[in-house]
Amino acid sequence: MKLLRFGEPGKEKPGVVTNWSKKIDVSAFGEDYTESFLATDGLKRLAQWLSVNETSCPVLGNNIRLGPCIVRPSKIICVGLNYAKHAKEGGMEIPSQPIIFFKSTTAIVGPNDDLIIPRNSTKTDWEVELAVVIGKKATYVDEANALEYVAGYVLHNDYSERAFQLEHGGQWVKGKSADTFAPLGPWLVTKDEISDPNALRLWLNVNGVIRQDSNTSDMIFKVPFLVSYISQYMTLLPGDVISTGTPEGVGLGFNPPVYLKAGDVVELGIDGLGTSTQHVR
Ligand code: ZN
Repeated sequence: MKLLRFGEPGKEKPGVVTNWSKKIDVSAFGEDYTESFLATDGLKRLAQWLSVNETSCPVLGNNIRLGPCIVRPSKIICVGLNYAKHAKEGGMEIPSQPIIFFKSTTAIVGPNDDLIIPRNSTKTDWEVELAVVIGKKATYVDEANALEYVAGYVLHNDYSERAFQLEHGGQWVKGKSADTFAPLGPWLVTKDEISDPNALRLWLNVNGVIRQDSNTSDMIFKVPFLVSYISQYMTLLPGDVISTGTPEGVGLGFNPPVYLKAGDVVELGIDGLGTSTQHVR
């Protein structure tokens, strides 16, 4: 299944993309895509409900605004330097264990919402990433069982302000958390539709110029390992997002660096997960 949310910011309603590529309103199912929806087998219940009710659901127009495809989760955990060539372009060592950091959940917006350059920013940068959405509560999970705790996958642009991240002291979270810095979507694709999350092309272009073009097979730490590893340090709740790191080709890696400015257009995509576009202002 492909789950989406649509409507005005803060008033989104749940929808799905049908097998015939139509977007439909599933408000009549009666639940939004929350922690409790996922925790109570909501994906299975929704699929059953759709098998009876799909044809009576309203079809959405193409101009509809897409919101973030899940309700704001308890946390976003990001993995740093998870692609060797990206670590190198930033002048960083390849980590021996995953680097993890938080990103504020207030940064979450719809996939095609504008990217707003934060106040006093001079180094706003892009990062196409595969994000994992947790499907059930995970504490001390084994790597062998880790995918049982995954609901699905979503396209994420882990926007980053490099001065806030690297020049203002302390942790990276400062550079990752501004409003609009986490466009999620277009849809949450359930894991049954993605046979191998570590074999997906991911790409990003700015103003039509390709900047990132890689494959999740190049990750240093793979998805099952990451879920297991992070669950040794904290409980993952249904809906929590793990953003698995970005490949080479971020603005920081160019000589001289290339950062975003008002008027730029950023487009990105991952095989099977769709595409998103952000206009910079
Ligand atoms: Zn990132």
